[in-house]
Amino acid sequence: MATVILVHARDNFMHTRQDVAGLEGFRPVLDAASLISAERAPSTMLMADETAPARDRLRAARAATDQALAHAAGTVSSAALQETLRQLEQARNLVDRAAERPDRYDGVQGAIDALFAADDAYWTMMIRQSATLIGSDPRLAAPIRHALILCGLRDNAGRLGSVMLAPLIAQTPMPPRNVSASDRLAGRMAVEWQLLELNPSVADHGPRLAALRQHAERAFFDDGQPLVARIIAEGTQGTPYTQTAVAFADRYARTLAPLETWRTNDLDIVLSDFRRKARHAFDMLWIISGATLTVTGLIAGGVLLVHLRVLAPLLEASEAVVDLGHDEPLRLPRRHRGSRELQPLYEALEILDARLRERAAQTQALKHQAETDELTQLLNRRALQILAKPRLEISEADERAFLILLDIDHFKSINDRHGHTEGDRVLVAVAAALREQVRPDDLVARFGGEEFAILIRAHTQMTALSMAHRLRRRLGSLKVVSAQNVRIPVTASFGVAAGDNLTWRQLVAKADVALYAAKRAGRNTVRLAEHDAEPADEGTA
Ligand code: GH3
Ligand code: MG
Ligand code: MG
Repeated sequence: MATVILVHARDNFMHTRQDVAGLEGFRPVLDAASLISAERAPSTMLMADETAPARDRLRAARAATDQALAHAAGTVSSAALQETLRQLEQARNLVDRAAERPDRYDGVQGAIDALFAADDAYWTMMIRQSATLIGSDPRLAAPIRHALILCGLRDNAGRLGSVMLAPLIAQTPMPPRNVSASDRLAGRMAVEWQLLELNPSVADHGPRLAALRQHAERAFFDDGQPLVARIIAEGTQGTPYTQTAVAFADRYARTLAPLETWRTNDLDIVLSDFRRKARHAFDMLWIISGATLTVTGLIAGGVLLVHLRVLAPLLEASEAVVDLGHDEPLRLPRRHRGSRELQPLYEALEILDARLRERAAQTQALKHQAETDELTQLLNRRALQILAKPRLEISEADERAFLILLDIDHFKSINDRHGHTEGDRVLVAVAAALREQVRPDDLVARFGGEEFAILIRAHTQMTALSMAHRLRRRLGSLKVVSAQNVRIPVTASFGVAAGDNLTWRQLVAKADVALYAAKRAGRNTVRLAEHDAEPADEGTA
């Protein structure tokens, strides 16, 4: 919407500027027409009375016309002006020649007709130029039509006086062609007055222009036209003219002056109106651009603020929720940048974080409890089973899994002799010794009452067997002392089985058979499971 208004304001400004340029360019064209028309008065004056001042006046008038035509050549091509310039030069020669023999009607009338012809040539060019201008800028049609009619009115009023001058200068009766020419001009002017009603001025200064028009009408109808009528009457009735050509031309020219003033003022006012509109359009363009920029800035600022104060904090919060979901610690800024309304959300997240941590700790404790044997703090049987399975499935090229199962010998009699509590202490000491002998990633579990299991990875069964022997020796060397300060001797029997291609259950069964064999062999010894390679016995205690 802002763009539409801005484009509209810009178009309006461009149009008004184009209008002003068009009118400014056309003004010299109209002024030149007026000056060509005005050159006739000093021309006829010279023919009426060839004096030095009259020649000076004509020279000045011709220079003014030439200057105006040169100026107009800025708008119309000089080629288009050629015909006018040619006719004008011819007419000026005729005027100069007629000035030498003013008593000859033909010479004077010929010179005046030639001036009319030059004027006609210019008008033909000017009408063509107007059509081109209106074609490219139709908004100029009304002001240009109005200006052309006013210019024509002024030109025809001038011609009406000029038509009277040849008989006056030559002091001959008024020939019928001059009378009919004056009738034709009066008729044309009547039409032009009516055309002005149809094409009123586009200028806003109504009262001032109305006064100028009234003045021009009065000067022409009350003074100029009766003056012409009297000359025609005198010239056609054969009575001598009551005034000289110079006196008539001088007085008639004064009746035309208000018409010229009206014409030029009208054009001035129209132009200044157009310039004002252009300035106004320019101001509007600035105001609308400024307003659009301000509004756009405000919207952008608002969006940025919403982003910073609401969207970004919300995004942060949602990322924090995802982090919590992945058991990652809550990472929220200590002072969030969000709006105050988001504070409860942040607090809720912190509460959730605290609860989740509590829950995680509980879960961890439960998991530990579920996996750990309470007395020895070793893995329990179930946990070992779960952890052992994946180790059996992964077969590495140079390492194999081995299960070492051991059972404390005659434990029942330890209980019987020293009491259950001492028995428990033995179990704890055995567990600690086993733990201390194996590598950190080996699994040690309490498998049953006084039975333990160790899952290791070894390159060869020899390695596994020597590990079992080492454990056996270590247990044999345990120094568990009873409450009665009696050393409790501890030994255990070991079964070792390789886990190649076996399920957990099969491996346990296999190791159990080996353990049973060790028991049968007299205890405190190690046995490798059948079908596994060469058994190795370091001997019994
Ligand atoms: P063997 O050499 O054939 O293994 O003889 P043993 O006496 O160790 O065999 P048995 O399996 O008959 O006895 C195991 C005893 O371990 C029986 C049971 O009371 C005792 N026991 C099992 N669990 C615990 C326990 O947590 N604490 C104590 N103190 N004794 C336990
Ligand atoms: Mg047992
Ligand atoms: Mg036992």
